[in-house]
Amino acid sequence: MPDRAIKKLDRNEVEAFSKDYKEFMKKAKTVREFVKYAEELAKSYGFKNLDEVSELKPGDKVYKIYRGKTMFLAVIGKKPISEGVNLVVGHIDVPHIDLKPSPLYEKFNLAMFKTHYYGGIKKYQRTAIPLELRGIVVKKDGTKVEVCLGCDPNDPILTIVDIAPHIAKQQRERKATEVIKGEELQAVVGNEPEEGEEKEAVKKRILKLLKEKYGIEEEDFYSAELELVPAREPRDLGIDRSMIAAFGHDDRVCSYAALRAIVDIEGIPEKTAVARLVDREEIGSDGDTGAKAMILENFISHLARKRGESVDLTDVFLNSKGISADVTAGIDPVRASAFDPQNAAKLGYGLVITKYTGHGGKYMAHEARAELVAFFRKLFDENGVPRQSGSLGKVDEGGGGTVCKYLAQRGFDIVDMGVAVLNLHAPLEVVNKADVYAMYKGFKVFFEKA
Ligand code: MN
Ligand code: MN
Repeated sequence: MPDRAIKKLDRNEVEAFSKDYKEFMKKAKTVREFVKYAEELAKSYGFKNLDEVSELKPGDKVYKIYRGKTMFLAVIGKKPISEGVNLVVGHIDVPHIDLKPSPLYEKFNLAMFKTHYYGGIKKYQRTAIPLELRGIVVKKDGTKVEVCLGCDPNDPILTIVDIAPHIAKQQRERKATEVIKGEELQAVVGNEPEEGEEKEAVKKRILKLLKEKYGIEEEDFYSAELELVPAREPRDLGIDRSMIAAFGHDDRVCSYAALRAIVDIEGIPEKTAVARLVDREEIGSDGDTGAKAMILENFISHLARKRGESVDLTDVFLNSKGISADVTAGIDPVRASAFDPQNAAKLGYGLVITKYTGHGGKYMAHEARAELVAFFRKLFDENGVPRQSGSLGKVDEGGGGTVCKYLAQRGFDIVDMGVAVLNLHAPLEVVNKADVYAMYKGFKVFFEKA
C-alpha cells in the first residue's frame, strides 16, 4: 500500500529540486517561454539541434522545436529506433487569459483590454488579482517584439475588474458559471488622457506608451500572442513548507520533471528516450502544436533516418512505451464528497498512476492495459519511487482527459501519471514537494531502465 512520499525520499534532494522548479516557474509562464527555457537548459547539457546533426549514434542528445511552441528532446539508445522508444509527454500550455486580436478601447475615462479566455477556468477567479502581460507581437515587416510587462519588479501590473459587492445584486443572482461572463473578462490598462487630445485621449496615451516602449502600433495586436498571467511568484506553502503554490503547475510541473529527467539521464539508455512538450492540451490538443499534430511522426522519422534506419513508423509506435505526464485533482477535506476517497490521489503520497481518465461510463478515455500498470508498479518499487493510484473524482461526478489517448491511437503502450494538485486550474495551484520529486525520479528511472 502507498506510504507517504517524504519517508522514502532524501529531504535535501526534494528541497533542492523544489528550489530549481520554483526558479523555473518564475521564468516560464507562457508556452514560448517554456520552450525557450527548455532549449537553453538542453543546450547547457550538450543537446544539439536535430536539424544541425547529420548522423546519430547511441548516447547522442538532440532536440527539435516546432513553431516555437512545442518541442522534442531525445537521448539515442543502444537499441535501434525500430525496437521502439520510451516517451514521456507533458503539456506546457496552461489555462490563461489571451488578449483579443483588437483588444484596446476607451470608455468612462478608462482604457481597457478585451480578452478571450483559454482553457477550463472558473472565470470569477481571474478578477481582482495582479496580472502580467506576456507574449510576442509580430510586426508587418516580420520583426518580433517580446513583451513582458511585469517581469521587472518595478513594472506596473494590470487587473481584470469585478463589481463592488454593495451593488452586485444582479451578479449575485447569476449561476456560478456566469458570475463573470466571458465578455466581462476585461482588464484596466489606463486612466490618463494624452495631452491635447479630446476624443479617446486615454486610449491614445496608451498607444503612445506602447509605441515608445515596444515600437508597436494598434494594428500590430492582430498579429500578436499576448496573454494575461498572474503576477505572482511561486512560494512555499504551509507552515511546514511542504508544498508549493504557483500559477500553472498544470502541467508545467510534469513537463519540467520530464525535461529534467531527460537531461539528467545517466549513461546510455537501452531504448531511445524521448521527452515531448506539447501545446494546446487545455483546449483539446487540436492545432499544429498539439498532441494530435503529425509532428511526432516527423520527429521520429528524422531520428530513425539520421540513425541510419529505414523504419515503419507504425511498428516503432507499437513497440514503444509511454507516460502521459499530467496532473490530477488531489482530494481535500472540505470537498471530499466529490471524490471516492479510496481511489482518490492524495497530496504527499507520491507519483500518481491514473489507469484511465474520461467521464461517465469511461467515455473519451484511454485505459492503460493491466500489464503496463503492473510493469510500472514493479519498476517504481524496485527503484524507490513512491507511487499511488488515482482516479479523477467520483463516478458520474465529472471527469477529464489528457493527451494519453492521442499517443495510444498511434500504437503507444501508454499510461497517465503525474502529481495531485489542489486548486486545479485556479490562478494559484498547489502541489506537494515530495510528490514532484517522486515524479522526476519515476520519469528518470523509466528513461534509464525501461
Ligand atoms: Mn493537464
Ligand atoms: Mn488542465
